[in-house]
Amino acid sequence: MITVVLFDLDDTLFAHAQAVTDGIVEFSGLPDAGPRWHELEEKHYHRYLAGELDYTGQRRARAREFVDPLVLSDDSADAWFDGYFERYQGAWRLHDDALPCLDALADRRLGMITNGDLTFQTRKITGLGITERFEHIVASGALGFTKPDPRIFLSACALFDVEPADALYVGDRLKTDAVGAAGAGLTGVWLDRSGAATADDLRAAAASGVQVISTLAELPALVGRDQLRL
Ligand SMILES: [Mg+2]
Repeated sequence: MITVVLFDLDDTLFAHAQAVTDGIVEFSGLPDAGPRWHELEEKHYHRYLAGELDYTGQRRARAREFVDPLVLSDDSADAWFDGYFERYQGAWRLHDDALPCLDALADRRLGMITNGDLTFQTRKITGLGITERFEHIVASGALGFTKPDPRIFLSACALFDVEPADALYVGDRLKTDAVGAAGAGLTGVWLDRSGAATADDLRAAAASGVQVISTLAELPALVGRDQLRL
């Protein structure tokens, strides 16, 4: 029986991509800045997750590549990023389906596993007003390994003192989140909000026993169904 439901934060509960777009458009004054800025985030944030850059380093790298790699000193890159960040922070909000889902699952033990810096992710969770709903928050930055490494999912299960089979993990990235969780023995759920799943994605999901949903509104029924089956 699923007693523990674990969530990814960015783009699962928290509308990160929209906040990033709103933040960069407002800060740069360029209405079409979103896609390029997303690309740079994806590139340099993954260098941070891979241990190539530290947290500040990935921010500077994003600022430099967006503005001008030759001109920005460390200080001006930091100041530039802070300016963007203020707008990004002003645009923080939950996805519309997040709170109803958390409400519907209030009889379960809830937790979070996020790839990121613990202090920053905690600040975000607090800013979103959902801290008290989660028993444990697990951030890769505090552990030294990132999703989809099975150890991060197993660490969360150990904190809750449950077997992986008693836990479900839902996230917006098929391999990093859902297949990773399934590989550690949890029930993996892929939240494909945009319906972007390809035939290959669906095959990979099925091969790992991953369930695919398009909105968090589908999650409580899925958790309940598991209970009925047992
Ligand atoms: Mg995510």
